[in-house]
Amino acid sequence: MNIIFSTPQNISFTNRTSPKKYQNLSGVENLPCAICGNRMYTKKELEYILDSFTPSIASVFKDKEFESYKDTNAYSLLKELAKKHPKTPIKNAVKDEDFTIKFQFLPEYTQQVITEIVAKASKNKIIAANVIKKIEKLKPAFGEEEVDIFNALKKYAEKYPDKSFSEIFSLSEVYQTHLENIRSYKSSRFPKVNEIMENIRTLGKQLPVEEQDELSIIENEVVRPLIDRIFFNPYLRNKNKEILTDIYTGEQLYRENYAYRTLTKKINILSQYEDLRKHSSNPKVMAKICELAKELPFETRLVDFFILDAAKNHKSDRDIIWDLLSRVVNSYDHIIPRSKDGSNDLSNGLRVHKYCNEERDVIPYSIFSMYKVGLNENIQKQISKIASLITNEKLLNSDEYPTSVRETLLEASDGRIIIDTDSFVKNYQNMIAKKAKGINESKERLFAIVEHYRKINNSISEKIEDLTKEIEELKENKKTNKKLIKNAHKCLEVLMHEEIKLEKKI
Ligand SMILES: [Zn+2]
Repeated sequence: MNIIFSTPQNISFTNRTSPKKYQNLSGVENLPCAICGNRMYTKKELEYILDSFTPSIASVFKDKEFESYKDTNAYSLLKELAKKHPKTPIKNAVKDEDFTIKFQFLPEYTQQVITEIVAKASKNKIIAANVIKKIEKLKPAFGEEEVDIFNALKKYAEKYPDKSFSEIFSLSEVYQTHLENIRSYKSSRFPKVNEIMENIRTLGKQLPVEEQDELSIIENEVVRPLIDRIFFNPYLRNKNKEILTDIYTGEQLYRENYAYRTLTKKINILSQYEDLRKHSSNPKVMAKICELAKELPFETRLVDFFILDAAKNHKSDRDIIWDLLSRVVNSYDHIIPRSKDGSNDLSNGLRVHKYCNEERDVIPYSIFSMYKVGLNENIQKQISKIASLITNEKLLNSDEYPTSVRETLLEASDGRIIIDTDSFVKNYQNMIAKKAKGINESKERLFAIVEHYRKINNSISEKIEDLTKEIEELKENKKTNKKLIKNAHKCLEVLMHEEIKLEKKI
C-alpha cells in the first residue's frame, strides 16, 4: 500500500490489492516525474486524500445542521447505514451494495432527500489548519511556486485557526492584499525592467544596426509581454486583447496562453538573447547582454492568482484543496507539442507533474534541456523505472515504450537527450526467452499428458473389443444350446410316443 498518510481514518482501502499490474502509465504509483524527478501521484491517490477531508457518515449525525431531517425516512435509512460503515465518508458509504439496491426501490421523495443530505455533507467546511497538516506531506513533490503557495496558505491557517480556506479568502483584509499585489505587479517591476532594457540598448549600440533591430524585437515582442503583463489575471482577462506570436510555433497566442511560470518566462526570454549571441558579429557584447537579461524580474507570484481566483469563483473548500493537490498529478506531456503536429501516441509522451507540464509549456526539449537542471537524469530515472516494471511484468501494454520514446526524445532534442535503453533491451530479451522456455515446457507437459491418455484410451478400446468378442461367443453358445435343447425335446416326444404305442400293444 503506497498511501502517504499514516492516519487515513475515514478511508477504506479494502478494494486495493497487491501485488498489482498496471494497465497504463497514468496509473503507476510512485513514478518519478520526467522533468523534476520528484514523485508524482495518480489521480486515484489524490482523490483518496481529498476524500479524507470529508467527514465520516457517523459524524454527519452529530452535526446539528442535519437535525431538520430527523423525521424523514431518508434520515433513518442513512443512520442505519452509518452503523454498518461508521468511519466511511457518506458519499462512499452510500455506494454500499445492499444500500444501492434498496435505494432503487425507495419513493422518489426519499431518494431526493438522501441525495440532498449526501451533497450537503460532502460540501462541508474543512478547517484550513487540518488541510495544511495533511498536505504538508506532499511538499517534497511540489515545485518552487507550489511551495510558495503552500507557505502562504500555512500562514493564513495559523492566523485563522477556526476558519476554512474559502472563508479566509473571502475576508476583505486577505482579498484586498492580494488584489493590491496584482494591481501593483507592473509598477513594482517596471523600474527594474526599464533599467535593464536601457542598459541592453546602450550595450547594443556597439552592434550593427540589424542586430540592434533584433534586440528591440526581442524587447517588444518577448520581454515586455512576458515580464510586464499580468498573466492569468481573471480581473483583466477581458480588457486588453492583444495578440502575440508564439516564438516557437509561429502561432497566434492569446492572453490566456501566455507563459506565467517563472522558469517558462526565463527560458523564453533568455533563449532569444542566446540565439542572437550565437549568430552575432560581436559575441562578447552579446554575452554581456545575456548576463544582464538574467537579472530581469521573471517571477510571478502565483499565490495572488491562486487566492483571488478561488475567491472570485466562490470555490468550495474541496475545490481549493483539489486545485493544490492536482498540481502533483501524473500527467501526459507531449514531447513534440500538438501545435507542431506531435501525436497523442504513447511514444510521444513523458509522464510529468501537471505543474511541470505547465512549466515546459511548448518550449522544445532541445532548448528546455539547456535550462532545466538535471533533466536528462530525471528522464532516464523515469524510463528506467518503467523499463523495470515492464520486464517484471507489472506494466501491461507498454512493451515498445522505452525504445520508441528514446527515438522521439533524440529527434525532439536534436540529439541532446540520449536515453540508455540497452539494459532494458537485454532484460526484455531475457524475459521473452524465459517466457518462450516456459511455453515450451508447458507444451511438453501437455504432450505427455495427451500421450498418457491416448495409451489408456487404446487399452480401453482393446478391452472393449475382447469383451465384444466374448459376448459374441456367448451368444453363439446360447444359439447352439437352444438347438440342442430343441432336439432333446423332439427325442423326448418321439420316445414318449413310442412308449404309448407299446402300452397299447400290450
Ligand atoms: Zn515534476
